[in-house]
Amino acid sequence: MTAPDAAPPPAAARPSLIGRSRGELAQLLVEEGEPAPRAGMRARQLWHWLYHQGATDFAAMTTLPLRLRERLAARYDIARPTVVREQVSTDGTRKWLLRCADGQEVESVFIPEADRGALCLSTQVGCSLTCAFCHTGTMPLVRNLGSAEIVGQLLAARDALGEWPTPAGARRLSHLVVMGMGEPLLNYEQTARALRVAMDPAGLAFARRKITLSTSGVAPRIAACGRELGVGLAISLHAVRDELRDRLVPINRKWNIALLLDACRAYADVRSERHITFEYVMLDGINDSDADARELVRLIRGIPAKVNLIPFNPWPGAPYACSSPERIAAFAAIVARAGYPAPVRTPRGPDILAACGQLKTASARQRRGAIAA
Ligand code: SAH
Ligand code: SF4
Repeated sequence: MTAPDAAPPPAAARPSLIGRSRGELAQLLVEEGEPAPRAGMRARQLWHWLYHQGATDFAAMTTLPLRLRERLAARYDIARPTVVREQVSTDGTRKWLLRCADGQEVESVFIPEADRGALCLSTQVGCSLTCAFCHTGTMPLVRNLGSAEIVGQLLAARDALGEWPTPAGARRLSHLVVMGMGEPLLNYEQTARALRVAMDPAGLAFARRKITLSTSGVAPRIAACGRELGVGLAISLHAVRDELRDRLVPINRKWNIALLLDACRAYADVRSERHITFEYVMLDGINDSDADARELVRLIRGIPAKVNLIPFNPWPGAPYACSSPERIAAFAAIVARAGYPAPVRTPRGPDILAACGQLKTASARQRRGAIAA
């Protein structure tokens, strides 16, 4: 399913090899003249260079015959999106502004912690949804990202961290959160392709339990996401009454709270080993009363879950304020008393507008066919 108004990703001058499955690479090698019986082995070698070694140049792929390397270099691309700007927060969070081949820009964020680090990936340039508290939601949807551009964010981050080849042991970049710009379940095919590449044990090797995808509530895609990808699921709930959620998270008008929670129960049935994370942004005087907390607990009863309370992160012109620390603590206590872990998320990188819901780029929608080189 794609957003109805999303333009497709552009065809680069040379097609990218990044973000394709191993089977597709083998097929492509056959089309490039590699004898079929050897194509699988060559695809494995190519995969190793791309995703284990992090090669940025075909010339480095010394296990491939020189002729094949030259042929691939002439016809295909393995470039990452260009890092246009890097900002480093006082808390160590790093935000990269990345430019795609057609000039469109997205952001991704690396959030280091003492013993782990998460990369927050974007899936769209802008967003077609207009959640009232989200900076990205003030951008139009410019276009979907292709799997090459989603995987490209990961490769660019590993380049910047110098984390090649893929470490066997501890890693700085250990977790992926699909919580950047855009709604991943409205660009499901490309997001799923990218995550399958990221999960492949012979390459980037991110275990599925180290990946979490956040959705604002594209209910019909949720169970499929659990079944097909098996990654962790975060649901941007944010309100416990339809009348309020219709305003805060407008996709609620299409799939309301009851439908969304039915989808969560179906996900919990196929992924019984994983709890669902419900995200709840704390908006002063809007959704943060004791009654809201009690209703939240009632709604999610029976779903193995935790509730992540996100202090509202302000952005220029935002129409909301964050709840007070005392209010957040009181809300968390009600949820915790009902048996659900209710951690309060520490905003990371707020000084560089890198925290949840603060990402935005200057990309604007372009007329089809008017895409800059
Ligand atoms: N589009 C997806 C994923 C990206 S947003 C989604 O909506 O789930 C990641 C999380 O940040 C979501 O829970 C989102 O609701 C939340 N968020 C958006 N704006 C925010 C803000 N200003 N402050 C705190 N959290 C915000
Ligand atoms: Fe889009 Fe998520 Fe922001 Fe809503 S919260 S506008 S779905 S990025």
